Amino acid sequence: MTDTKVYLLDGGSLVLDGFHVYWNKGPGGEVRFPVYSILVEHKDGRFLIDTGYDYDHVQKVLPFEKPIQSKDQTIPGALKLLGLESKDIGVVVNSHFHFDHVGGNKYFPHAKKICHKAEIQQAMTPEPFEILGYSDLSFSAAAAEARKASAQLLAGTTVANSTFEGIEGDVELAKGVKLIYTPGHAIGHYSLLVEFGNRKPILFTIDASYTKKSLEILCQASFHIDPRAGVASMRRLKQLAADHEAELMYSHDMVEYQTYQTGTKFYG
Ligand SMILES: [Zn+2]
Repeated sequence: MTDTKVYLLDGGSLVLDGFHVYWNKGPGGEVRFPVYSILVEHKDGRFLIDTGYDYDHVQKVLPFEKPIQSKDQTIPGALKLLGLESKDIGVVVNSHFHFDHVGGNKYFPHAKKICHKAEIQQAMTPEPFEILGYSDLSFSAAAAEARKASAQLLAGTTVANSTFEGIEGDVELAKGVKLIYTPGHAIGHYSLLVEFGNRKPILFTIDASYTKKSLEILCQASFHIDPRAGVASMRRLKQLAADHEAELMYSHDMVEYQTYQTGTKFYG
């Protein structure tokens, strides 16, 4: 049995056009969407999946995404609400390295870091249409060096303390905490399935499906490297949720997000 708990760390919000949220479908117009990170408290330790966006980075590089983020919505601020500090997190996993999922990595020089083995290389040499996605390189001294963006690094970030363990395929991080390989949106994208002792599992689609509607109509975001893989990943998530009778939670769905438990509330 397990007493696993999951906390959602609210990371503020951003804006995209509706045609980016629903690729080739829309409707167009500004869509404000949430960004959050997932903290899994497990008997084997604390796992943080993703670290949100860095406000200053977005203001500087993608101001058109109109970031709104309070102090409590930064990674240190959100952890503080739980009585935690960054040093209390043992393992940081990035679902992929887009800027809205890695912005707080810099606060975890001590932590073990895990990602899909193809993501570091992709952040170093992104396709032209991925450059803004992979624009915050503060999570990796090696990636920042490769892209000549070392100015982004926080003092104290070194190759040694920002090195990742590369994984591939589905991986069980700890008992009942499973990374599900769902490529398409990014080359090495992961979703997350968490099982509990006393409630139904939760399947976090992360960016394989921004919203509930995205999954219903199999419409991925316009940001992707392989749309056919993206559709296959969405179908796989639907099947997994059915097989596990899991509750689905989406990465960037403001309507659904209003119903999620954040702050000191938790699932488990
Ligand atoms: Zn995202």
